[in-house]
Amino acid sequence: MNEADSERIGRSFAARGFELTDSLKAADAVVINTCTVRQRAEDKAISQIGRLRKWKLARPDGKLFVVGCAAEKLGRKYIRNRFPFVDEVVGAKSLDKIEALLPDFPTLPDFPPENRHSVQKHTTGQPSPLPTFRPPTPRLPDSPVSAFITIMRGCSLKCSYCIVPAVRGEASYLAPEEILAEAEAKIAEGAKELILLGQTVNSYSYKAGGESVSFARLLEKAAALPGLARLRFMSPHPLFFTDEFFRVFRENPRIGRYIHLPVQSGSDRILKAMRRGYTRARYLDIVAKIREAAPDAAVSTDFIVGYPGETEADFRESLSLIGEAGFSFAYCFKYSRRTDERGLEPDLDEAGMDERLERLLAEVKKNSGAILNARIGRIEEVLPESRDFGRTSANFVVRPERGAELEPGALVRMEITGVVRNALKGRPVP
Ligand code: SAH
Ligand code: SF4
Repeated sequence: MNEADSERIGRSFAARGFELTDSLKAADAVVINTCTVRQRAEDKAISQIGRLRKWKLARPDGKLFVVGCAAEKLGRKYIRNRFPFVDEVVGAKSLDKIEALLPDFPTLPDFPPENRHSVQKHTTGQPSPLPTFRPPTPRLPDSPVSAFITIMRGCSLKCSYCIVPAVRGEASYLAPEEILAEAEAKIAEGAKELILLGQTVNSYSYKAGGESVSFARLLEKAAALPGLARLRFMSPHPLFFTDEFFRVFRENPRIGRYIHLPVQSGSDRILKAMRRGYTRARYLDIVAKIREAAPDAAVSTDFIVGYPGETEADFRESLSLIGEAGFSFAYCFKYSRRTDERGLEPDLDEAGMDERLERLLAEVKKNSGAILNARIGRIEEVLPESRDFGRTSANFVVRPERGAELEPGALVRMEITGVVRNALKGRPVP
């Protein structure tokens, strides 16, 4: 979501004549888009702001914006007190207001044009490669070949550990016409893959003029857009799968054969304490339905370790779920306390959390290795994002064998010949 928001903010600046720059020195404005989902993200945001004191001293006319979820949580007063050199604070709930705060385009006549109109944006957790805003891990691409489309904002669930509803507000859904128009515009700009985004993306539902558009219907419409090679979405929630969705998924091979379905824990006791609204059995039932609709589909997930009250037995249920669900990949997080609610203090110390995290990661790695190896010998349709890297429909990274080059944006059939680290190796075939 932050990636998508950063891009939107960048576009607002661009509409005023600004350009993105990799160079802090050349920047007339800096936007720090902050995350607060875990304490560590918030700490990074804070230290990132601190580091900009020097820039502001050297550029007193430059504008420094602190925006997003940590800005929403900490508040304008706190941020301005602690960092008086910050010009504007815009929380995640009011990102739309940023438009009105944008600085005027600098019009100094003797400024060289190449470094005059620039804005640098930092998203915490991904400090360096600008202006492509790559996430720190290969979750999903954000290259010109692949574009994000936000279809909902906020979240109306109340998972016990989660700060998202507090900083992003209740769920609200964008109108289908607006979503499809943005999709068409991004395809016209060269995107071949679109990723529909929302915290509970499959809860999408939009009612207007007596007609209601479901998530499945929206997927169907988006998948039919001319010029689109692949459609993805992130993240669905187990509570909102419907038969209609499974039908649309089965009938539309343009919808990527990959679903990121955060589970958080394999233990029913912990799932209940987390207020996730499903059991391990119900979750596995959805995974089975995904595979029934598309036998090749890959499923990945998120886990939290060290949730308050998680016993060794509970933790083992997370471990055993990896093989049982056949996850191709998993993001694993140490529990981070985000609320003052009683009973939500972590009861494992840092070393205890680290120990579980490592065991979980080792199991994920073992399982991913087996899943990657099972793809050897297959012919896969690959969407190249650069000359040396593309993705299969199931979202596995494929690198061409030595000597071969890929053409970004054009689907290519490749024979999978091996596995190198976390990626497949392949050669184009006719
Ligand atoms: N809406 C998505 C999750 C968004 S937050 C869903 O419900 O599936 C992304 C991930 O961050 C979550 O899946 C969870 O694994 C992790 N996360 C959220 N809050 C956390 C916390 N307090 N401590 C540790 N990890 C957390
Ligand atoms: Fe947070 Fe996701 Fe739960 Fe919403 S569904 S409260 S975003 S973890």
